Amino acid sequence: MTIQELLGKDLPELEVIDIHAHMNRPAQFMCPGDPDIDGMIAEMDRVGISRIAIAPNMAINCDVVLGNKMVLEAARQYPSRVMGLATVNFNDFEESMESLKSCFATSHFKGIKLHPDFMHYSVRESDKMRAVLDFAQEKNAFFISHTDERVIPGHLNLYSHPDWFEEYIRDYPQVNFLLAHCALSAEGYRTCLRLALEYDNVYLDTTGFRFSSTWTVQDLVRNGKGDRVVFGTDIPFNDMGSAGGRIILGHLSLAEKIKMLGGNAQRMLREI
Ligand SMILES: [Zn+2]
Repeated sequence: MTIQELLGKDLPELEVIDIHAHMNRPAQFMCPGDPDIDGMIAEMDRVGISRIAIAPNMAINCDVVLGNKMVLEAARQYPSRVMGLATVNFNDFEESMESLKSCFATSHFKGIKLHPDFMHYSVRESDKMRAVLDFAQEKNAFFISHTDERVIPGHLNLYSHPDWFEEYIRDYPQVNFLLAHCALSAEGYRTCLRLALEYDNVYLDTTGFRFSSTWTVQDLVRNGKGDRVVFGTDIPFNDMGSAGGRIILGHLSLAEKIKMLGGNAQRMLREI
């Protein structure tokens, strides 16, 4: 059964956009679903997702240049279904920026992706951040970053605290910022909410675990920021069905659900 059928029979035209997804098998987690593009497209058809924005695990974990080429290939194979997210690695910055330029020389890329926590660099590296954001602004691309407020001694350092994005959000009002996972903690969520309340170019997604889930979405609606929530599955870390349930089964109006599943992403992508 598709999302459209679950929401109501008069919604066959609802375009559902998964704005935060990956591809190919990662090293960190067990991912029982099919992580390759053909399997992902088949799952999108089953669930009712029209388009998907992808940063391959190869790009966010390992080899940015190869990963960016992988998503370009997938987008060429499924041009109406796949939107590329070009990944940048601050530890290999010049090569990353060259790769970014060749990605956006094609028409298949819509966003620029950072994963500071997997790659162990900080978004406080201001020169690199600003070079990426200058490029995003020039190409009318949205910016998406993993965010994480947590410190776990011996395991997690701070690389992507949501507070650290504020200067960039303020200085680049024409770039839409998607702060993925609402920073993965209650305190991180509160910071993300504050940023969404203060800045029109801040969006938050439904990917991740506890702190970007149904209650967060409902809290954003209570605070008048339901129009900044965009749907993401984080496939293959999560499966598409449970990701959809966060919105479909939430205490939300049908209009709010429809916006979160597609309309808000279309606005973030500057399509409407
Ligand atoms: Zn992700």
